[in-house]
Amino acid sequence: MSGGGRGRPSAAPLACPSADPDWDDARLLGVVLGTAEEPQTWFTGVRPVDPAMLAAAAPAAPAEVFRFTARCREGACAQFVGGRCRVGEAVAAHLPPAEAQALPQCGLRPACRWWHEQGPAACRRCPAVVTQDSLVRGAYTEALRGQGDPERVTAE
Ligand code: SF4
Repeated sequence: MSGGGRGRPSAAPLACPSADPDWDDARLLGVVLGTAEEPQTWFTGVRPVDPAMLAAAAPAAPAEVFRFTARCREGACAQFVGGRCRVGEAVAAHLPPAEAQALPQCGLRPACRWWHEQGPAACRRCPAVVTQDSLVRGAYTEALRGQGDPERVTAE
């Protein structure tokens, strides 16, 4: 589905739905609720990152308790292979889907890399994603292992 995707203007950049909060264009996407074993992201709508909010996450890292979005780094990201995001593939292929048939209400969808490449299969699993899973036992981390590479973004 790359190269135009689901109704997106071809020149429009896509966005990463599991970005690093340190990226210069990072925006808040959601808050990770639920439990360590069964995380459940509540999508807040894309909004500016509040430094006080990041500080309030301590001692957890911001990416353990929040979800962020930023412009997809494409070739500068270790997970971008063959013009597609391997993280989105792992999420769609390995995480269990939500029971609800309705997709989560998510303001990122028109620009989301995972949506454009994986469609509803990504959205039904996306709330279970924790960008930085320090417990190394979450379903997201296991999904990346299933892709053969637990490493995430390594370059800007
Ligand atoms: S995969 Fe779906 S639910 Fe997740 S950020 Fe993208 S559009 Fe939103």
